[in-house]
Amino acid sequence: MSRYLSKKYSGLRPYTPGEQPRDMRYVKLNTNESPFPPSPGVLKAVEAECGRLQLYSDPRSAELTAAIAESFGLEPENVLVTNGSDEILNFAFMAFADEEHPMAFPDISYGFYPVFAGLNRVPYVEIPLRGDFSIDPEDYLGIGRGIVIANPNAPTGLCLPLRDIERIVKSNPDNVVVIDEAYVDFGGESAVGLIKECGNLLVCRTFSKSRSMAGARLGFGLGSRELIEDLNRIKYSTNPYNVNRMSAAAGLAAMKEDSYYRENCLEIVAVREETGAALEALGFRVLPSKANFIFAESEKIAGGALYLALKARGILVRHFDKKRIDNFIRVTIGARAQMEEFLNAVNQILKEQT
Ligand SMILES: *Cc1c(COP(=O)(O)O)cnc(C)c1O
Repeated sequence: MSRYLSKKYSGLRPYTPGEQPRDMRYVKLNTNESPFPPSPGVLKAVEAECGRLQLYSDPRSAELTAAIAESFGLEPENVLVTNGSDEILNFAFMAFADEEHPMAFPDISYGFYPVFAGLNRVPYVEIPLRGDFSIDPEDYLGIGRGIVIANPNAPTGLCLPLRDIERIVKSNPDNVVVIDEAYVDFGGESAVGLIKECGNLLVCRTFSKSRSMAGARLGFGLGSRELIEDLNRIKYSTNPYNVNRMSAAAGLAAMKEDSYYRENCLEIVAVREETGAALEALGFRVLPSKANFIFAESEKIAGGALYLALKARGILVRHFDKKRIDNFIRVTIGARAQMEEFLNAVNQILKEQT
């Protein structure tokens, strides 16, 4: 830390991204990326856009915004496209959270929420998940705080039914409720249908997981015209050209090839169910996931030890050194062949244990 760093950031604890090591080739199952490449139209669109890089991108991302709006039965005024969904989440903290609107989110969830709260110096409470790692909706009813819930949640993969989300949103009309739907395409129920009735609901989505575009950094928020206007106020005060030309073109092309991505999601769901069953057959407890990852633990080996043993065999998964979940590993669902390699390695590791 230099002596110039502003005091307001001296206590900030930044987010720790999943590792991206370069020392060898890994079977990479640690950051919930898609095993499938983007659709063919995306490659063409990006190539065409490269020849126009001397020009600024469209600050409104008008074509992509319109395509997203149409696909959800909303108006372009209900959509804001951002540099990954991390950006829309940060914008939401900047716009809607403060001393008068403190935040609440589950104690076990996306690790960026407390970081955004810290960055924006917003008070927050972390509400404990139940013993089975599910969210108790009662904990959020009428709590008079802003709320962020990932649904499905990460890293558990567990889903809250839409009727519970609806109760939470409607019981907190004086605060914004953010539903982070990064993983909804793998089997969750979306809250987008509530936007027309609920002026305090912001739904966040990303192209990073189900749309094979983590490297493009593309996400978006959906909400009432007024909420999107507020978020635009933040955007135009930080970086009007937050989405670059290539990513906007890639996103638009992806919207036009939706069936490719839907089929990939079905395949990932099928492989997820097979992998979960195989882990259970090896004695693991596997939480019922609706995401593109599974969260599992075994009594036979500690989560940290399993993570290291897998890494030594060239397989990367995610381990969180955090109370209550430190015996678990989170495994991204990759291609079928990758999951076979993973399962073989787990099998070997367990055998060597005894
Ligand atoms: C991956 C993820 C995001 C962020 O995705 P971007 O790559 O920034 O679009 C947001 N929320 C959750 C819960 C995630 O897992």
